[in-house]
Parts: sequence; structure tokens; C-alpha cells
Amino acid sequence: MIIANNVSKKFGKLKALNNVSVTCNKGECIALVGPNGSGKTTFIKSILGMVVPDSGFITFNGKNIVHDWLYRRHIGYMPQIGRYPDNMTIGQVFNMMKDIRSDGKNGQTDESLAEKFGLNELLHKRMRTLSGGTRQKVSASLAFLFDPDVLILDEPTAGLDPVASEILKEKITGEKSKGKLILITSHVLSELDDLITHIIYMQDGNLLFHKKIGDLQKDTGEQKLSRAIASVMLKK
Ligand code: ADP
Ligand code: MG
Repeated sequence: MIIANNVSKKFGKLKALNNVSVTCNKGECIALVGPNGSGKTTFIKSILGMVVPDSGFITFNGKNIVHDWLYRRHIGYMPQIGRYPDNMTIGQVFNMMKDIRSDGKNGQTDESLAEKFGLNELLHKRMRTLSGGTRQKVSASLAFLFDPDVLILDEPTAGLDPVASEILKEKITGEKSKGKLILITSHVLSELDDLITHIIYMQDGNLLFHKKIGDLQKDTGEQKLSRAIASVMLKK
């Protein structure tokens, strides 16, 4: 579904991505993990076309994304830091997105997450007045709003309270069972344990490994994700 071929990106002298190649398929729930600054967000933004690689290329359903921006309508994206017009209310932001993305499947939108988060009672609130957690709830709800085939979630549970975090995880699990591709970054590994099928580990812009969870557990003899990864890192 998404294939990255030798993708590299420099910011000045810093190699944010160094020859990253990876294949992501329908039905997979892939955790992109690695320390801060390892290139996770840069990689995600490359898939979205928000960062243009210096070399290498990315295909979406077989087409180079450079030549076809329409692929983006298949992706729901929750940014690590959501930026919205300060003076707009939550309701206005939702309506604006619906106006821009009039391509929702048959005009149908999935507002279940906003409902579960209780955003419907906050629609009149202006974006600038929101707490970080509420802002995250808006970002998460927008990512799922158009029922996309691919979900790209950058540190989705950061800043969410435990209840909201559970609601979001349930939503992700539900979408995964529909066969969607889910790409999720997190540095809190314990959160991903029961969700993910594959893991990509990045460090200093390099992809260190890409494995099925079962294989990682078998190779390391560890069930818990955080311990399995720690075990791989220590052996290197
Ligand atoms: P992660 O998401 O894994 O924490 P990022 O992809 O955000 O890492 O960043 C990787 C590296 O690239 C970091 O050193 C970061 O400071 C740098 N970087 C990211 N975006 C930019 C940018 N627009 N300009 C300059 N440096 C950047
Ligand atoms: Mg990041």
C-alpha cells in the first residue's frame, strides 16, 4: 500500500532520514518507535507529502506520490502538534474540514470519536482556549472523520487522560479490524502492546529494524514490547 524506497532527507547538515526503505500493507498496525529526534515525524511527513525527500521516493498504491496528490484523501492524519486557527470554534473547525474534504464516503462522516470524547458539548469553544488534551481530541476526531483507508497517528495518546486514551485505543482497534493500515508513532511503548502487528525501530534517521511483533517476541524471548525492544538494542 505504502512503499518507501531509499528515502533520505537532510535539514542542513543533519540527516533526519538516511536511506529509509519500508513496505506497509493493508491490515497492518505498525508502530514507529525510536528516541526523540530519530526521524519518525519526518518520515510520516514524507509519506504525507509535507516533507519532500532529497532522494528516494514513496509510492501509494503503486503510484509515486510526487505525481498524484489525490492519494491524500485516503489518509487520516493526526499530527503530533495540531495547529488550528486560534479564533475558530471547535464546531467551525469541524465544518471547515467537511467543506474542504467534500469527498467523505457518500458525504458520510464518522463522528463517533468526537461524540465519545464529549466534543459535542464543547463546539462553541475557541481553539485558543483549549487545553492540550482537548486539542488532541479534536486532532484525533478529525483523523477518523472521513473514514480513511489509512490512519497515520503521530504520538496520538500524548496529553490524553487515561479515559480518553482508552477511547482512542478502542477506536484504533475497531478500524484495524476493518482491514485499514494504521501507522502510529509513540515513545510510550506500553501503550501499544495489544494494538500493533509490526514494529519499525528508528534511530538517528536510520531504520534499524522492521519486524512482525511475533518474530520480535520469538527472537528476544520477551512478550512485552518495551522489553523486547530493549533486548534488541542491548545486543547491537
Ligand atoms: P522524531 O519525530 O523521531 O522525534 P523528527 O522527525 O521530528 O524526530 O526530527 C528528526 C530530526 O530532524 C531532529 O533532529 C529534528 O530537530 C530535525 N528536524 C525536523 N524537522 C526539521 C525542520 N523542519 N528543520 C530543521 N530540522 C528539523
Ligand atoms: Mg515526532
